[in-house]
Amino acid sequence: MIDVLIVGGGPAGLATAIRCAQAGLSVTVAEPRAGPVDKACGEGLMPAAVARLAEIGVRPAGRPLRGIRYLDPGHRADALFRHGPGLGVRRTTLHAALAARAAQCGIPVLPVRVTGFTRHSGGVTAAGVEARYLVAADGLHSAIRRACALEPPPARYPRFGLRRHYRVAPWSDLVEVHWGPDSEAYVTPVADDLVGVAVLGGARGGYQSRLAAFPALRERLAGAAPASDIRGAGPLRQDVARRAAGSVLFVGDASGYLDALTGEGIGVALAQAAALADCLAAGRAGDYERAWRRASRRSWLLTAGLLWARRQPVLASRIVPAAQRLPRLFTRIVNLAGEA
Ligand SMILES: Cc1cc2nc3c(=O)[nH]c(=O)nc-3n(C[C@H](O)[C@H](O)[C@H](O)COP(=O)(O)OP(=O)(O)OC[C@H]3O[C@@H](n4cnc5c(N)ncnc54)[C@H](O)[C@@H]3O)c2cc1C
Repeated sequence: MIDVLIVGGGPAGLATAIRCAQAGLSVTVAEPRAGPVDKACGEGLMPAAVARLAEIGVRPAGRPLRGIRYLDPGHRADALFRHGPGLGVRRTTLHAALAARAAQCGIPVLPVRVTGFTRHSGGVTAAGVEARYLVAADGLHSAIRRACALEPPPARYPRFGLRRHYRVAPWSDLVEVHWGPDSEAYVTPVADDLVGVAVLGGARGGYQSRLAAFPALRERLAGAAPASDIRGAGPLRQDVARRAAGSVLFVGDASGYLDALTGEGIGVALAQAAALADCLAAGRAGDYERAWRRASRRSWLLTAGLLWARRQPVLASRIVPAAQRLPRLFTRIVNLAGEA
């Protein structure tokens, strides 16, 4: 019997595995997709995420990010990170770096999809592995969460995300967030000749039709060759009631997710991973719910607040003008998010 079986080898699963191994626990990961794994993502790591990766010995190559820029047709506001740069990094690069570190730590990865498990007095069995704990890190639409009857109710205002890359030299070292009437487009420099463009919003629609809401951005991208397939995700919001079901524990998107609007998903997943590994190493799995809340609270509040403002017809069109008029407040909020 091992200590921890982790279902899902994304950032949350691999970071939890590395931290557990570093704490002396025996750990195995189940991840069906052959690496390096890609995913719909804005690919902007906030400074806190970069620091958390460095803590576990993971330093992926990417483009340093100096801050966040909000834009609408008449306004522009820049907020610079105060405590070191963030990083624009392709998901495949991030996955390869995490997987290499996990391999260095001697963590086995089973190429299997896990959709169920059986409980027994000592813990759980899944994919033929007996473990004291099963950690579900299987993403936004977690099969393990479903198996535990912890499916969240459908989101009241569902939002979706789509992303694609373009072969073009980045024109900024800030993540640009273009605010449209009812969607946002994120531009993240990820290499010297590559930017990622993620579009978030309520309507399902196709990528090109959503991009049409951002004429200035479309002009920037004119002539740039698409450099990846379009990938999507959603509905984004997953209000999960709790983080544990006996010896099954949830981390990352599987443990609950609000929105990609503030670009902190990976940073928060890494913070939750650290909290979970600490609880398991100390033999106090029961403390995880509280630790998870501590790790996620600030990001949850900031994202919920911004989403709420986004939905108010009067406020939505004033977000970028307010950020431009109140640069210190905007910088403070961006840095609160980046350090969360
Ligand atoms: C459009 C969009 C833009 C975003 N932009 C940003 C951003 O700029 N910055 C940021 O920090 N975050 C961003 N996020 C959020 C970020 O992508 C997620 O929070 C992050 O990927 C969560 O990591 P995870 O490991 O929990 O889940 P995932 O990355 O989804 O990994 C889950 C893993 O589990 C595996 N898996 C799934 N089912 C099973 C199963 N049954 N058995 C075994 N394995 C399984 C999958 O193959 C996958 O490898 C964005 C999200 C979206 C949708």
